Amino acid sequence: MDKTSQQLEVVSTGTAAGVGRTLILLGHGSHLNADSAAAVRRHARAVRAQGRFGEVLEGYWKEEPSLRQLLRLARFRDVTVVPLFVSEGYFTGTVIPRELGFEWRGPVPPGGLSTVLEGRRVHYTRPYGVHPDMAEVIAARATEVCGEWSPERTALVVLGHGTGRDRQSQQAIEQAAAALRGRGRFAEVQALYLDQAPRVDDWAALTRSPDVVIVPFFASEGWHTQDTIPHDLGLTGAVTEFPELPGGPRRVFYSRPVGTHPAVTRVIVRLVEDSLDAPLSPEEPAWRAAGEALLRAARSSGGGLSVGEVQVAPLPGGGFDLRSQEDAGHSDLTPVALADLAAWTGRTADGAHRPIRTQRSLPRGWRAEVCAGELRAALHAVYPAVLEEASAWENGALPVVPWADTADRQSGLYAAVQRAGPAQVARARSTTCTGCLRTPLWAGEPLGTTFLAGDPQGLPCPEACTLLVAAVREELSSHQETPAQGEVTHV
Ligand code: SF4
Repeated sequence: MDKTSQQLEVVSTGTAAGVGRTLILLGHGSHLNADSAAAVRRHARAVRAQGRFGEVLEGYWKEEPSLRQLLRLARFRDVTVVPLFVSEGYFTGTVIPRELGFEWRGPVPPGGLSTVLEGRRVHYTRPYGVHPDMAEVIAARATEVCGEWSPERTALVVLGHGTGRDRQSQQAIEQAAAALRGRGRFAEVQALYLDQAPRVDDWAALTRSPDVVIVPFFASEGWHTQDTIPHDLGLTGAVTEFPELPGGPRRVFYSRPVGTHPAVTRVIVRLVEDSLDAPLSPEEPAWRAAGEALLRAARSSGGGLSVGEVQVAPLPGGGFDLRSQEDAGHSDLTPVALADLAAWTGRTADGAHRPIRTQRSLPRGWRAEVCAGELRAALHAVYPAVLEEASAWENGALPVVPWADTADRQSGLYAAVQRAGPAQVARARSTTCTGCLRTPLWAGEPLGTTFLAGDPQGLPCPEACTLLVAAVREELSSHQETPAQGEVTHV
C-alpha cells in the first residue's frame, strides 16, 4: 500500500475512541412530500452501514434536521458536507453555503470549499451529480428499464430539469451525455430538458432511433418524475408504444431517476474519499456533554422522561422505551426499529408529512426499544436537534437569531419576506408556531428550563424555520401591509 492509500485508509475508516469524522448528506426535502427525502435517507443508511465514517447525518433545506441545525449536531470537529443534488445551481452555490455559514457564493470549485464554522473544520464538496462516475449510473438505469435492448437501435435521452436562469445546472448533464456518447454504447445520446432548449417535448424530432430510453437526471422521485414528465410526453408506463409518428413507429422506455439508484452511494463515498486530506478529529465536548445530560435526565426521572409528546421510560436491563405519551401503558403497540423511527414518526396518523417534527401531530401506536448508547439517536429521529438545542440553552450557549436577520439572508423567491411588517410575521407565527412544541426565542418568547431540567414542554427554537419563512411569504401574497418608513421588522 503506498503512502497516499495508507493515509486514505487511516482517515476514512473506523473510529477510534473519541476520534473520527462526521459526514453530512444534504437534500432539498419538502414541506409537502415525505417521499422527497427518501433517496437521501436510503443513501445515508447505506453509507452508515459501511462503517467508513464515525458518523453520518442527514439534513434538508425544507424539513428537519435543517441546514441551520446541522453543525451543532456534529459529533466530530472534522465535518464533510456533500450536497445530494444532481447538478450545480442555486441550491448548491447559494442556499447551502449561506445556510451553513460560508461566505462563498457561486459554483463550488472542483476541490470543494473548506473553512471553520461553529468551531468545526467544515469541508463542502461539489454535488455528486457532477462526478464522472455518474455516466455509469445513467447507463445502469437505462439498461435496467430496457431489458433486452439493441444499442444500435436505441437513443438514450438524459433528461434534466434545466433552467434559463443558470447555465451551470446543465453542465453535469452535458458532461455525462458526452461521456456516454464517447463510449458508443447507444446509437445516439441526447441531453434534453424540461425548462430550456433542447426540450424533451421534441424528443421525436431530436432522435432518429426506433427505441428511445429516457433517463431522468433527477435526485429523487417527485412531482416531475411521477406526474409532469409522463403526462406531458404521453407515457403510460415503463414502455410506451407510439405507432403513428411521422417517421414510423417508436417505443419509449422511461426509467426511474438516477438519484435513487443504489450505485449513487458508491459515487458519494468516492467523492468524499477524494476530498479527505486531514487526520481523524476529536469529539466535540459539547456533543458528549449533551448525551450525558440526556442519559442523566432519563435515568433520574422515576416515571420516565417527558419530551414534548414523547415518553422515554427506563427499562430494567438499562435500555429505554420511547412512545407517544398518549400510549403510556398500552401493550398493543407496533415495535419500530431505530433505523425506521424517523420515517415512521415523520407522518401524522392520517399519513400527512411532518416537515417540522415538533409540530403537535406525533402519530400514536408505535414503540421503540433502544439501548443506552442509542437513546440520543432515537430522540433525534423523533425530534431532530432538540437535545443539542436544549443542552446549549441550559449552558447559555444557544445563539438566538432574530427574525430580521433570518429575513435579511433570504434570497430568490423568499427575499420577499424582507418586506414583511410585524403584523404579517405575527400572523404567520400564530398559524405556524401555535401548533409547534418549540418556544420561538427568535420572536422574544420567554423560556425557563428545558426538558433536560424537568419541563417537558421546554424545547427552544432559536431561529425561524423554513416553514415559518414560507408562511410569512404566503402572508405577503395574501395581505398587503407596508411597513412605516424606518420600521424595523423585529417581532
Ligand atoms: S419557527 Fe415556529 S414552527 Fe418553526 S420550529 Fe420554531 S416554533 Fe416551531
